[in-house]
Amino acid sequence: MHKLGLFFLLLFVSTSGFSQIEEIKRITKELCSPEFHGRGYVNKGDSIAAAFLASEFKKIEVEPLGKSYFQPFQLDVNTFPGEMKVEQKRKLLIPGRDFVVNPSSTGVNTTYKLHELNASELLDLEGMRALIQKIKNDPSVDKAIVIDYTLMSADTVKLVQSLAYELATILPVIECIDTKFTWSVGRKQSFYPFLQIQAGSFDKSGELKVNIEASFVKNYQSQNVITHIPTKKKCAKTIVFTAHYDHLGRMGSDTHFPGANDNASGTAMLITLAKHFKKNPVNYNVVFMAFAGEEAGLVGSKHFVENPMLKLKEIKFLVNLDIMGSGEEGITVVNATEFKDQFTLLQTINNEKNLLAQVKSRGPSANSDHHWFTEKGVPAFFIYTMGTNKHYHDIFDTYEELTFNEYEDITTLLIEFVKRL
Ligand SMILES: [Zn+2]
Repeated sequence: MHKLGLFFLLLFVSTSGFSQIEEIKRITKELCSPEFHGRGYVNKGDSIAAAFLASEFKKIEVEPLGKSYFQPFQLDVNTFPGEMKVEQKRKLLIPGRDFVVNPSSTGVNTTYKLHELNASELLDLEGMRALIQKIKNDPSVDKAIVIDYTLMSADTVKLVQSLAYELATILPVIECIDTKFTWSVGRKQSFYPFLQIQAGSFDKSGELKVNIEASFVKNYQSQNVITHIPTKKKCAKTIVFTAHYDHLGRMGSDTHFPGANDNASGTAMLITLAKHFKKNPVNYNVVFMAFAGEEAGLVGSKHFVENPMLKLKEIKFLVNLDIMGSGEEGITVVNATEFKDQFTLLQTINNEKNLLAQVKSRGPSANSDHHWFTEKGVPAFFIYTMGTNKHYHDIFDTYEELTFNEYEDITTLLIEFVKRL
């Protein structure tokens, strides 16, 4: 390389100031691995992830905000720790691909005779009541109701979907769909098994062998991981970065939801930002919060705002990072309409440094951990990436699907944002 080339290379390295892509990949990959059990409630996946995060913070000498790295809290949660077998005519359906269990489903080990109800039967409430009574009056065989959404208009699907939940309180229900699965975490357990199966992977009029183990855990203990880099400046305000590290866990002993984009990606970014601010101190206290229980309904962040470890009034600004793995189509900023000056600042930096394809404005939304802070009057953005990766709450949200293309641009944007706030 000639001298001028070297000069430009050095210039680039010293001004970009952020090149931790290998580190981000390593942390994301680790969090997605089967040993972390989808960072949920089977095999203590969440606690294994929390211990890993604490060790990563320790390694870069970022201290706990409290006495320990962990802020414990409890929640009730429905789990699927063991058998997850759905079988028809000796053909095993694949968990997560051919079927999912409703997160609130109970467990069962039986063979069902399937009985399909069409939309007009389902929407004729009187007729349906009589029909269900008839089905229940024949105890000779276990019956499950099949509802096939693929045959219904979008409006009818909406109507019937709300009925399906009611139905599942009196009978086993099987929903037949041809769209992607979107799984979640159940905080309750229903009385009957409740499944979703892909149309085309089973015969709606046959028999279905179902062996599912469900375990409802009361007062499951999870924990937030909270760290900080204190500034030497007196009476300084605090900048907070948050990201949830939990995901959906396991659906049966053999299937885990890796949650790469959601939100191993944001968690990895949180740690690399901590590493950056440790090396490059600013005139703020910088606090890093890795929340648990987000997928169960923003439980960890709610616990934090109700039991804050710092005065919420001292927070100058909070940035929540969730779904950070793509970004080819830019980022969306939730609460942009509430904090117009700060949003303009993000856009200005983005244009000046020519970073992301777009920085898009969105109003308030209760869709991630920033929500409880917003409710308490803490100025906050929730930033998520947009791109071609559409895997969300399914088994295909894997490490391999992440491009990491915009990771450095996003972190550069955030670091500059803090500098100029
Ligand atoms: Zn998320």
